[in-house]
Amino acid sequence: MKAAQIIEPNKPLKISEIDTPSPTGNHVLVKVKAVGVCHSDLHLWEGGYDTGDGFMDVTDRGVRFPVIPGHEIVGTVSEIGDSVVGIKVGDDVLVYPWIGCGSCPTCEKGDTNLCEAPKSLGVFQDGGYAEYSLVPDYKFLIKISGIDLEGAASLSCSGLTAYTAVKKAITNSPENILIVGAGGLGLMGVQIAKSLSNANIMCADLDDEKLKKAQEMGADHVINTKNSESSKNIMTICNEKGADSIIDFVNAPPTVKLDLSVIRKRGNIVLVGLFGGAVDLPLVSIPLKAITIQGAYTGNYNDLVELVDLAKKGIIKPIVSNHYVLNEANNALEDLKNRKIIGRAVIIP
Ligand SMILES: [Zn+2]
Ligand SMILES: [Zn+2]
Repeated sequence: MKAAQIIEPNKPLKISEIDTPSPTGNHVLVKVKAVGVCHSDLHLWEGGYDTGDGFMDVTDRGVRFPVIPGHEIVGTVSEIGDSVVGIKVGDDVLVYPWIGCGSCPTCEKGDTNLCEAPKSLGVFQDGGYAEYSLVPDYKFLIKISGIDLEGAASLSCSGLTAYTAVKKAITNSPENILIVGAGGLGLMGVQIAKSLSNANIMCADLDDEKLKKAQEMGADHVINTKNSESSKNIMTICNEKGADSIIDFVNAPPTVKLDLSVIRKRGNIVLVGLFGGAVDLPLVSIPLKAITIQGAYTGNYNDLVELVDLAKKGIIKPIVSNHYVLNEANNALEDLKNRKIIGRAVIIP
């Protein structure tokens, strides 16, 4: 099969013919119809993350090169192992990629995405930038007949992260939710927040074009943060009370400073983006305002099943804006890096 592999960080992906894996036991071989191009692919390709005071190297977290990136995989089952039940050749499936060790208490609870020995597809094992992808267990597949397959790819990562972030953000019955960042994740966050809550949805970004999209997706108010009055504007929209919940899909020093300046008493800040950097926290205001700062990263298998149901009902419509073939995998990553993608890019192997 043809596959694109990261051989070493910051070098072009190697696109070549490699052996097609053959499934045994619980394995399922999926013929990839579309694979999402995600910022995490970019971090993997760059070899790590900026942590504010240094660089978090992915190889220290257990990544081994070469690896086939791509964790947002949709496709058709092409071959199954002899122990597979409930999945047959020809089924259209979405792959749940956030696999764990399978035996720790967290995995046993079903939160494989939070396992300390992760085996995520497209990160710690080969993923979907290939004609075929070997899924280690049929239990990680979700049948997705009846929805747009290309759009469904991003549900397993950006969609899932947006979904769990919104679930966390609505626990305090917010009147006002601020969504920071109107990229692929932010736009999904707007749609999900609109469908799961009655809150007033505000969306902040630097880019008017993206903010226009956010309005189309259901944002009640949009705020361009290039404007030096943006935090004042947010306070005005919230009747000077501030935002009850903030989901920060950027999570960079300037956006977190904005979050802290407009968070309401007993407010809840959910940090999602992996932009990186560091901020000084005004420590006294955390107890005095009784605010919560928490992170959200992907979600578990059941969250993804719930999200696919929302997509089947038409409540969320993932936007695919750019298409690439496998030979253009490097261009896809470059375009994402250079912020040329609004919405979501997919590779069609
Ligand atoms: Zn992703
Ligand atoms: Zn585990």
